[in-house]
Parts: sequence; C-alpha cells; structure tokens
Amino acid sequence: MTDDFRSDPKNHNPMSAFKRIRLVISRKENLQLTLTALVLQLSFLIGLWISTLPYLTNPPCAICGNPKTKAVKTFWQYRSRPQRYIMEKNIWYCEKHRQNAPKIVTKLPSEKDTVAMRLTIVTVTGSLGFVGLLYTLAMLESNFIPLFIQPALLLLSLFIFGRSSNTSIYLLLAGIVIPPIFIFYFWSKRQS
Ligand SMILES: [Zn+2]
Repeated sequence: MTDDFRSDPKNHNPMSAFKRIRLVISRKENLQLTLTALVLQLSFLIGLWISTLPYLTNPPCAICGNPKTKAVKTFWQYRSRPQRYIMEKNIWYCEKHRQNAPKIVTKLPSEKDTVAMRLTIVTVTGSLGFVGLLYTLAMLESNFIPLFIQPALLLLSLFIFGRSSNTSIYLLLAGIVIPPIFIFYFWSKRQS
C-alpha cells in the first residue's frame, strides 16, 4: 500500500473537516452539553446587558472600568509649552475609587472608552471564546464538559470582577486562547 491517509484528497478538503466537526457536535451527549452551555452563555450575556442598561451612557470608572460611576470634579493640569494650564473637568469613578480620587490629574481618560463599548468587547470576546472552544473540542473529539469554561468566565465577570471592568475584559481575552491551548496540551499528552 503506497496510499496513506494524507494522500487521499478527501482528507484535505476543508468541507470534510467541517462535516466531521458537525458530526461530532451532533452526537447526542455532545449536542446536549453544547446546547446547555450555549443557553447559559446567552442568558449571562443578556443578563450582562440588561443589568448594565442604566449605566450604558456612563463613562466607565477611570481606574477599574466598572460601569456604576459618578462624576468627580477634578483639576486637569495640562502643558501647553512653555506654560501650564489648569482646567476643571469631570472624571468618573466607581464608589470604591471615588473615595481616593485625585484632586489634580495630568492625563484624562479616553473619551472613546464607554461602558457600551466595553460590553460589546465582552460580548464579542465571549462569543469568539465559545466558538473557538467548541471547535477545538469537536476537532479533538474530546469530552465537551470544558465548554462550560466560557459561561463560567461570564458569570465571574457578572458577579465578581465587574461587568465592564478591566479584569473581566482581560479574563475573557485570555479565555479565547488559554482553554484551547490547555485542552490541546492534555489531549496530546494522552495520545503519546
Ligand atoms: Zn473603580
């Protein structure tokens, strides 16, 4: 036999890889786990938006990024050479960081940084993480339980780290890359 697996043109076809992934996901147990994780993922995302609706137009906390903020009148010292000027500005802080808010700052938070934009980032990274993880698990024909990592990360950002906080965003960004790498690592260890 000279033919091996790779020389068969069928195995190079991206459609057959896609079909195989679809087949793995449609197995009864995998499908049940996928749908359960998906329902959790979607309900946490919806919960995230609904619970943040009253704060969507607030600028996020200048220190941690949380959505529940109030403005603090602050002096902004800026330099327009050779002189320095001072201007009064509103800077937004959460309750925790409002207590130690500086009276004078030299740098203002970006005006483009809004709670709505941060929630959009959370939604996009959470969804990419979910799809990436599902793809990895199906490709390796692994157990589908790790799919619950994604709704768990959303739950942490909802209740522990803050809905639009810097920590939640970093956590969800890491959640796109780190779980598939770990799963692949354990899978390849088991194979050898
Ligand atoms: Zn804060």
